[in-house]
Amino acid sequence: MKEASLPGEPDAETASGDRIANPKQRRVAIIGAGISGLAAALHLRDRLPEASLTVFEAASRPGGVLHTVRQDGFLIETSADSFITTMPWALRLCQRLGLEDRLLQTDAAHRRAFVVRRGRLLPIPDGLMIMAPSRLGPLVTTPILSPWGKLRMAAELFVPRGSGRDESLASFARRRFGREGYERLIQPLVGGMYTGDPEQLSIQATMPRFLDMEQTHGSLIRAMRRKPRSEGGKQNGNPSDRTSGSGARYGLFVGLPDGMSELIAAMVRALPAGSIQCGAAVQSLTRTPAGDWQLVIAGQPAPLSYDAVVVATSIGQSRSLLAGVDPELSVLLDEIPTSSSAVVSLGYRREQIQHRLDGFGFVVPRIEPLPILSGSFSSVKFTGRAPDGQVLIRVFLGGAVRPELLDRDDPQLIQVAHESLAGLLGIRQQPIVSLVSRWNQVMPQYLVGHTERIARIRERVANWPGLALAGNAFEGIGVPQCIHSGQQAAERLAEELA
Ligand SMILES: Cc1cc2nc3c(=O)[nH]c(=O)nc-3n(C[C@H](O)[C@H](O)[C@H](O)COP(=O)(O)OP(=O)(O)OC[C@H]3O[C@@H](n4cnc5c(N)ncnc54)[C@H](O)[C@@H]3O)c2cc1C
Repeated sequence: MKEASLPGEPDAETASGDRIANPKQRRVAIIGAGISGLAAALHLRDRLPEASLTVFEAASRPGGVLHTVRQDGFLIETSADSFITTMPWALRLCQRLGLEDRLLQTDAAHRRAFVVRRGRLLPIPDGLMIMAPSRLGPLVTTPILSPWGKLRMAAELFVPRGSGRDESLASFARRRFGREGYERLIQPLVGGMYTGDPEQLSIQATMPRFLDMEQTHGSLIRAMRRKPRSEGGKQNGNPSDRTSGSGARYGLFVGLPDGMSELIAAMVRALPAGSIQCGAAVQSLTRTPAGDWQLVIAGQPAPLSYDAVVVATSIGQSRSLLAGVDPELSVLLDEIPTSSSAVVSLGYRREQIQHRLDGFGFVVPRIEPLPILSGSFSSVKFTGRAPDGQVLIRVFLGGAVRPELLDRDDPQLIQVAHESLAGLLGIRQQPIVSLVSRWNQVMPQYLVGHTERIARIRERVANWPGLALAGNAFEGIGVPQCIHSGQQAAERLAEELA
């Protein structure tokens, strides 16, 4: 077991679990040093400065899924490369950590993306916000859809309201926009975001605003046309204005010059030194009759006792840890499945690639005979990702719709990713740099009924004083929502302990 090795103050709060030093000091354990667990720890630090905090992390570094690697002059994000700023929590955390001036905007000159059709990259129609078009012009002229597909999408204006009850993303999108619009545009865009199967994902839990738009305005197109321009509403009609429509969406994302690991490092620095124990897998969690929480840590002879605990691991781990505490809660958590994915990062010399790379990347419809989910032109999106004259592209594979590909070994995944890019972008030679990052069972799938399931989980957790759950399985998978979930879990415990 080792401390996260970042500079800080000498520590008064270690993981000793020793009550004798100060019997009144509250002791809180946080299991998991991903962004959710770290956000919980920081919030507790702010709310209960006198409490002793210990974050137990199974891996050899904090950050969980978030990790940045430097290789041969490339800066490679192995998972998330940015976060959205319309939800306040990540932005506020950066302000709290003094990182606000470090935030990196996406390159305004190339704010658009492509979709694959018959092996070619075609620009996603301007003004399309995932499934809500704010402009009909680009939809009418796009070569992505047949004339019938375009008519059917425009007819969304006249499709009657649904019941407002939860349904799958696919059924919602097909009902409103027709099969072709769903298969050619909406499915690849949504599938790329959740690495999930839209036939199973809940519209209410993943994109409730579209359900609201339908209920309030009777049509998503009408709702978008009534929105002010600043919210992605009706545009000025200038097709070269890439700060509008779907382009505006890319302007809402920010990264960091040293990657997402910069955020993790700043969070670790803001916690007391020694409060994060890496290489410390929690093997079991129990509650004693006296109301203490006992943790057994791999390699440690005796269990450690705490007044409160935040479980901030991936959902599969949370389910196992809580099985001994509350089997019914564990069964509810078991109803949230997960998917796996891999990110293959490839570096090329610019002259190896024929395509203009005048966008941030592309998504692949499931009906296209390509084995990959999407690609991100990382060095176009953010500066500083590749050395001069070189290009970094990240390819996403697997997910709920193509899990079988992940059985292949790393060299095979690199070959699949490279061959797919070679066909789409006109690449002549092998990549000069490659890195495979596998994410096994870390992406929860928000299935139809997710919102009610989470309400039942919350009710169950409320029966256990001193217990809180955080993570990406509950109210959003994105970095800002994970931060919020950690902060909410910490707030609940802070109120109890105070
Ligand atoms: C490929 C990919 C790309 C993504 N892209 C984006 C993006 O661009 N923007 C965005 O906003 N979001 C993105 N996301 C989503 C987002 O990054 C994740 O949802 C989020 O980082 C999850 O954080 P977490 O702390 O909840 O979980 P995790 O990061 O999984 O952290 C959980 C931690 O718990 C530890 N742990 C597990 N079991 C134990 C145990 N028994 N004892 C101790 N420790 C344990 C794990 O080692 C891990 O460190 C992406 C996700 C992936 C996989």
